[in-house]
Amino acid sequence: MEKSRNSVILFLFYLSVFYPQTEVHSFATPSDHDFGCMKFVYNATDLPSEEVYDYIVVGGGTAGCPLAATLSVNYSVLLLEKGSVPTAYPSVLHHDGILTTLTLEDNGKTPAERFTSEEGVANVRGRVLGGSSMLNFGAYSRAEKEFYAESGIEWDMDLVNTAYEWVENTIVFQPNVSRWESLVKEALLEAGVGPDNGFNLNHILGSKVTGSIFDNEGRRHGAVEFLNRADPKNMRVAVHATVERIIFSSNESSLSARGIVYSDAQGKSHKAFVRGKGEVILSAGTIGSPQLLLLSGVGPKSYLSSIKIPVVHHEPNIGQFMRDNPRYYITILPPSPLVFSGGQTVGITKDFYIETLTGPPFSSTPFSIFPHPSIRIKINSTFGHIVGKFPGPSSYGSLTCKLNIG
Ligand SMILES: Cc1cc2nc3c(=O)[nH]c(=O)nc-3n(C[C@H](O)[C@H](O)[C@H](O)COP(=O)(O)OP(=O)(O)OC[C@H]3O[C@@H](n4cnc5c(N)ncnc54)[C@H](O)[C@@H]3O)c2cc1C
Repeated sequence: MEKSRNSVILFLFYLSVFYPQTEVHSFATPSDHDFGCMKFVYNATDLPSEEVYDYIVVGGGTAGCPLAATLSVNYSVLLLEKGSVPTAYPSVLHHDGILTTLTLEDNGKTPAERFTSEEGVANVRGRVLGGSSMLNFGAYSRAEKEFYAESGIEWDMDLVNTAYEWVENTIVFQPNVSRWESLVKEALLEAGVGPDNGFNLNHILGSKVTGSIFDNEGRRHGAVEFLNRADPKNMRVAVHATVERIIFSSNESSLSARGIVYSDAQGKSHKAFVRGKGEVILSAGTIGSPQLLLLSGVGPKSYLSSIKIPVVHHEPNIGQFMRDNPRYYITILPPSPLVFSGGQTVGITKDFYIETLTGPPFSSTPFSIFPHPSIRIKINSTFGHIVGKFPGPSSYGSLTCKLNIG
């Protein structure tokens, strides 16, 4: 693969991270949801048992959708997503649905897949076309400068900036700042989290209003909408397609991924292969991508042998260095209801980040961040949440397999 395309792809892998620099020329135009891409989205049960493409992208989430759409301009692409189409779960389409999505009982198909770490920390990850961008709080920012410096990758910053603009023109909006969000910004400035950076997409020290993937009608414009930028004749998307393993071929000098095995909603197995110099690209998320590598025999040899997975390639770091931002929540129950908003105001210091959101009460805790349901609250009351996060914790965990993809 040539270097310039490589840079775009690597950048897209890291889209979900955070962001610096350069002026933004324009934003997405507020509009109703555009699901024009659905004409090339298929239920995996309707696909043949064997096919060949130039590229196979595993995981139709925040990184996978723009990556597949970009590749389809010049190549045939199969994008595989284990979840449903977003229209099957309307709560993912609107700001008011955030907590509904997060509190839906996980039945193996719902868009928020729950998981709990061994320490007992409950969490969720996206399982729907568009991935976690269909259930997150929608705050958008470009990566911090240190991200590029520390990544070990030689970035073509012109391409990076072009990609940012492409993203911003497609799904990013300048929010109408709610009263609550502007009060939190004033409080941050009063507390010394300055300067006031106004509305700014860059990850810079101080307080700012950041971009949002919610338009001012509250409609969520998640990563699924990047698929509208794909070339329909080159692009095929399969939903309810759970990739179970990568098919490798090897000769004396090299090992390469030639295809994947996936199962559809009826449990039927399908195979897809790449032709020529094509590639299998994993964009199945922080947990899904290493999980798939381990299940395919790529990982620490001793660990794979201990769980009886044949070793295809010894790679000691797969599944290691897993970490999340420790965070705290301060929740305020104000005397009068707040307008729903999320992730507009951000305070950035060297040691911590602060964000805010508002939301209704609910009957079950989605994941350890909201007040316990036993707290007495009035019907129609809203909460104001102030969220603090610490970047780059020094403690790590690791991922181990239970031998099935769920
Ligand atoms: C509640 C919440 C709030 C958040 N708020 C924000 C925010 O405001 N701003 C921000 O920048 N970030 C936020 N984030 C984080 C952000 O959403 C994620 O970092 C980002 O979406 C991850 O992108 P990804 O492409 O790596 O994975 P995802 O978008 O999660 O995509 C991975 C996709 O792969 C699919 N998949 C996994 N395994 C398989 C398999 N074996 N076969 C087929 N498909 C598979 C999954 O179903 C999923 O759709 C939030 C996250 C959560 C959970």
